[in-house]
Amino acid sequence: MQFDMKILVINCGSSSLKYQLFDMDNEAVLAKGLVERIGIDGSQIKHTKTGMDAVTHITPIPDHKVAIKLVLDALLDKNHGVLSSLSELSAIGHRVVHGAEEFATSVKIDAKVMDALKRCIPLAPLHNPANIMGIEAVTEALPNIPQVGVFDTAFHQTMPRHAFIYGVPYEYYEKHKIRRYGFHGTSHYFVSHRAAEMLGQPIEKLKIVTCHLGNGSSITAVDGGKSVDTSMGFTPLAGVLMGTRSGDVDPALLPFIAKAENMNLDQVDALLNKKSGLLGISGLSSDLRDVESAAAKGDARAKLAEDVLNYGVKKFIGAYAAAMGGIDVLVFTAGVGENSASTRAAVCDGLEFLGIKIDPVKNDMRGKEMEISAAGSRVHVMVIPTNEELMIARDTKRLAF
Ligand code: ADP
Repeated sequence: MQFDMKILVINCGSSSLKYQLFDMDNEAVLAKGLVERIGIDGSQIKHTKTGMDAVTHITPIPDHKVAIKLVLDALLDKNHGVLSSLSELSAIGHRVVHGAEEFATSVKIDAKVMDALKRCIPLAPLHNPANIMGIEAVTEALPNIPQVGVFDTAFHQTMPRHAFIYGVPYEYYEKHKIRRYGFHGTSHYFVSHRAAEMLGQPIEKLKIVTCHLGNGSSITAVDGGKSVDTSMGFTPLAGVLMGTRSGDVDPALLPFIAKAENMNLDQVDALLNKKSGLLGISGLSSDLRDVESAAAKGDARAKLAEDVLNYGVKKFIGAYAAAMGGIDVLVFTAGVGENSASTRAAVCDGLEFLGIKIDPVKNDMRGKEMEISAAGSRVHVMVIPTNEELMIARDTKRLAF
C-alpha cells in the first residue's frame, strides 16, 4: 500500500455531500465535487477533475446512497473521471462533526465505532445522522474499503476540566453530557501545526492562538500543540459573532426574547443561529464582503457589525493569552481570516501591549501562507489557509491500514 495510494475524503451534510480525491503519494487533489439538494427537488452533482472545467449533472438524488453512487460514477467517468477501477481507491476518510467524549482522535471505523457515533446523535442531531448515512452508503457500495472518521471535536478533548465545565448543576454534565466541546478542531490542528513548521520551531514550545474566521468562526488556545480552550461550546453557536450566528449572548435573552416576541424556544434557537450575527446587526448580509463594502460606503449598521466582530475576536485573543500565560503566535485562517486584511488589521490594532504588531504592507494580501508581523513584533502573526480535507486524508492514510 506504499504506492499509488488514493484516498477519497467525504463531508456529508444533511442535504449535501462534498468530496475530494487525493493522491497521497504527493498529496495532490485529483478531483473534487459537490452534491447538492439531496432528497430535495433540483438535486445535482458538480464534479471537477483537476485542470478541467467543472461538469454539472442535474438528476434526482433521493438519498445519500444515490449520492455516493454518483460520486463513484463521476470518478470513473471516461471523460472527466480519474480512476479506471474502484479498486484503485485505498481508503475513505469522513468528516464527522461530533465525537463527544468518545473520540479524542481520529479512528478507523468498525461496528463498535458506529455504535458510539449513534450515541453521539443527541449532541449533533442535524449533523451526525448525515455523517452516519454517508458512512453506511460507502459501506454498501464498497463493503471492504477501510474507512476513517475524523471529528471536529476531537482536537479539543485535551481541554482541562475548568475550561469545559459550565456553571450549571454538575449532574447535567453526567446525565446529559452538557459541557464545552468546541468545533473546527481539524482546522485548528492543521494551522497550528503548520505555523510551527513554518517557523521551524517545535510546537511543544509554542503558545498559539488560532482564529478560524469564516461563516462559522472559532478561536482556540493551543498550548504546546494541545487545545486548552476554544470559543465554541456545547454547540457551534457560542463564541464570536458569525455570519448568521450570534456567538455568546446573555443566556437570559432566550426566555426574554421568547416572551417579548411570542416565540417558542426552538424559534429563538433558530433566530440566534440563522438570523443573527453579521446579518442580524447589519440587516444586509451574512457575507463579510457585502458588509465590508456597505460599511465603506458609510452604512452605519454594517460598520457596527464589523466592529462587534473585530472587538469580539480581539477579546478572545487577550483571554487566551491570559489562559496560556503568554502568546508566541497568532494565526488567521478560513474565509475571513485568510482574505480580509481589514479584519486582521482591526483585530490586531491595540494588541501591541501583547507584542502583536502587523506590517500593513505584508497584511495587504489574501489567501496566501504568509507571516504578516512587523519587524520587531514579539508575536509571529501569520495567515495560513486551512485545509481540513488534506488533514482528513492524512489521518485516513495513517489509520486505515
Ligand atoms: P465556512 O465557514 O462556510 O467554511 P468560509 O471559511 O468559506 O466559510 O468563509 C466565508 C466567509 O469568508 C464569508 O463571510 C465571506 O464573506 C468571507 N470572505 C471570503 N472572501 C473574502 C474577502 N475577499 N474579503 C472579506 N471576506 C471574505
